[in-house]
Amino acid sequence: MSIAIDREKCVGCGKCSMVCPGSLIKMDGQNDDRKAYIKYPKDCWGCTSCIKECPVNAVEFFLGADIGGMGSKVHTENHGDILKWVIISSDGNRNEIDVNRRESNKY
Ligand code: SF4
Ligand code: SF4
Repeated sequence: MSIAIDREKCVGCGKCSMVCPGSLIKMDGQNDDRKAYIKYPKDCWGCTSCIKECPVNAVEFFLGADIGGMGSKVHTENHGDILKWVIISSDGNRNEIDVNRRESNKY
């Protein structure tokens, strides 16, 4: 499992780096050039914390064949109380799952 960080989208807030329980994400650059990168991609166990925290959808998680994802990628989008999970399959199909943050602990 691993993630990819789009450096073009990254605004350098550092949230992904702070929440990663394995300290796998580091920051480089200074001030406006500050960007996140994953230093230890093979150690990622897919907890999805970084994906949920990124405010600009710059973090994508690979859903590999080993977990039935067949090369799909997932990221999240923030819509107020709704956290939208977006799954893009390898053929470009888009599926969305909306999770209401206020109700997410009910499940
Ligand atoms: S998915 Fe979890 S373990 Fe993997 S880089 Fe993100 S926060 Fe770290
Ligand atoms: S949370 Fe997103 S915007 Fe913030 S540092 Fe990480 S990748 Fe960049």
